[in-house]
Amino acid sequence: MVKIGHSVLCFSDFYCNCTRTRIVLALWARDSQARDRVFEPGCATAYYSYTCPKVKETGPVTWLEKFPEARGARQSPVDIVTSRSSNSGSVPPLTFRYSVHHPRSIVNPGYCWRVDENGYNSELRGGPLGSDVYKLQQWHCHWGAKNGEGSEHTVDGRSFSGELHLVHWNTSKYNSFVEAAGQADGLAVLGVFIMVGSKHEELHKVVRLLPYIQHKGDKVTMSEALDPANLLPRGSGYWTYPGSLTTPPCTESVTWILFKQPVEVSAEQLALMRKLRCGEASCGEEAMELLHNYRPTLPLGNRDIRDIRDYGGH
Ligand SMILES: [Zn+2]
Repeated sequence: MVKIGHSVLCFSDFYCNCTRTRIVLALWARDSQARDRVFEPGCATAYYSYTCPKVKETGPVTWLEKFPEARGARQSPVDIVTSRSSNSGSVPPLTFRYSVHHPRSIVNPGYCWRVDENGYNSELRGGPLGSDVYKLQQWHCHWGAKNGEGSEHTVDGRSFSGELHLVHWNTSKYNSFVEAAGQADGLAVLGVFIMVGSKHEELHKVVRLLPYIQHKGDKVTMSEALDPANLLPRGSGYWTYPGSLTTPPCTESVTWILFKQPVEVSAEQLALMRKLRCGEASCGEEAMELLHNYRPTLPLGNRDIRDIRDYGGH
């Protein structure tokens, strides 16, 4: 895997865009660790980034050139205009069940912190997903340099201080994460807005370990029990719409479910996220702060955002 990826990196200019997208997606989905190694081997050669020295060459505006799907009509994130979202009446309740007691990897891939669920069983279904069963693959966070910026989605033009993404794949229709990640109904992402307030106890099990994954490529294993359901706001409705991955290759395979009620994290917890670095320790001065790791909003086009008033409990 690394060998193949290395040649892609070295000779990427000789690949047509569609080939490149296919390979990036395959690596993205099949082996996230290999993808991180191959496509972001250091700040100076990052394939895409938000804040690293080469951001002008690898930042979100450049994704349109490198990844054809990033120019599609079903891109994410978007601004949610609440007055224009449609009330879809009754939908089946959204239900989820997660594995609590299993080891998790917490990784700094250079553009966020991410928790890999390591293939343990979980189940998300209902709501806009119908009877298909989705399984949690990983979850990660986006944040800003200051309070009030950092979320990817915005609501009536308002940004939040961060956004958690719980990424699930459709196990009813597809055999693997890689297969699902390329299909229109392959992924479901639960999005949770973050605002500054009280300390988030469940999230702190991860946040307290961030000093140990300060630089890109760092990874720790967490064995403490954690229930991802505790990351979700209680008693909140949600918005749902068809969209895409918000990082390259920006594949249009995501059913977004964005909870209306934000969760609170403390200023100290957010400060620990802002201390992460987008480079490897060996990058020295180039191991810059990992800040504002969010993609700007994109046009909704003719898509409909459905407003689900009652999420139906767990
Ligand atoms: Zn994300």
